[in-house]
Amino acid sequence: MARHIYVHNPFCARKCPYCDFYSVTDHSCEEAFYRAAVKEAELLASVIDETTGTNPLTDIDNMDTVYFGGGTPSVPDSRQVTSLLKAVKEAFRIAPDAEITIEVNPSSVTSEKLTEYLQAGFNRISLGVQSLDDEVLKTLGRLHDSKGAVDAIDKIREAGFTNISADLITGVPGETLDGIKRDIETFRTHGVKHISTYSLMLEEGTPFYDRYNKTIEEFISPELEREMYHGTREFLNESGYETYEISNSCMPGYRSIHNSSYWNSCEYFAIGAGAHGYLSDMRYGHRDDVRAYIEEMNTITPDMYKAFLEGNKSGLKSLYAEEMLSREDKMREVAFLRLRTTDGILLDEFRKVFGEEFENVFEDAVKNNISKGLLERKERTLRLTRSGLDLANVVIEDFL
Ligand code: SF4
Repeated sequence: MARHIYVHNPFCARKCPYCDFYSVTDHSCEEAFYRAAVKEAELLASVIDETTGTNPLTDIDNMDTVYFGGGTPSVPDSRQVTSLLKAVKEAFRIAPDAEITIEVNPSSVTSEKLTEYLQAGFNRISLGVQSLDDEVLKTLGRLHDSKGAVDAIDKIREAGFTNISADLITGVPGETLDGIKRDIETFRTHGVKHISTYSLMLEEGTPFYDRYNKTIEEFISPELEREMYHGTREFLNESGYETYEISNSCMPGYRSIHNSSYWNSCEYFAIGAGAHGYLSDMRYGHRDDVRAYIEEMNTITPDMYKAFLEGNKSGLKSLYAEEMLSREDKMREVAFLRLRTTDGILLDEFRKVFGEEFENVFEDAVKNNISKGLLERKERTLRLTRSGLDLANVVIEDFL
């Protein structure tokens, strides 16, 4: 039963050279996009009408989270963004204590926009800081400097938000562990409650891939990257941020409920060009094409949308099915998603859902990784050890 909504806002002020998320810098269709996204929220509202009885979305429950990601949702006109949230709130039943997040960037967020976001119902901000070192920010091609980022955190707090998350990128050429520690300390003293730390990845098709793949010696060595990962994690923990997933740490009580829903294999709705969802065993998406999205939302009927969600995938330009998950696929997903979390795999929960013991289904992978010291069993949980965290990708590969 889906209780989460992801909304993709595909606009950015400029494309960062390392980024492979779907976003566009041509804003000429911004208004048309938000009209289309409001239409999609309304379409979903009619599709989930409980009187239809036969659709896969009946018995819809209160939504626990709404997440406006991107792109950069703070770049478009805030009236467009808040109108879309209003439409989402009218279309779905939103739980009174729902977590409603918006991603913003220091270069585009203003006090006025923040006040509008708060009044519209957003209660959590995710700020794309990436670094507080001006040289690192230049290497990353970001539009803000460190002062702009710290000012943005202060503005967010002053606007009345208490649930504030910030992103950091580790493994950038020229970055040091001492610098990352300074950034974390600044976050802590300025009231940031949640920190996501992502290793810089060389994604094919990005300018960074072309630049660093040809001169790999300029790029950070895997050993140094791992050293920074551990040093960062230790410092986060010493500073009061508990690591609860490979890339995410927070003060007590500030885990991201929305992101946790992904690691718990929960279903979720998707709205917007480039957005991906998971409903009725189907992973689906909207193609990375904002104009095709607008055209589709202008022509699709509730019946067509419902038919798509029920498995009829023909004749659509933007909506597409990525894969139908079998029972075995879902078991593998539990393994690779839950192994990323420090809570690990809850063996009783797995047995309750699938009627089988995790250790029987994945017998070889479990034995192999426990014998290598990469996986540990504590009572009724299985999780990665410290060395396992280093080799998480290798361990997870064994379960796929
Ligand atoms: S601001 Fe974010 S989404 Fe936009 S290009 Fe940069 S990294 Fe990608």
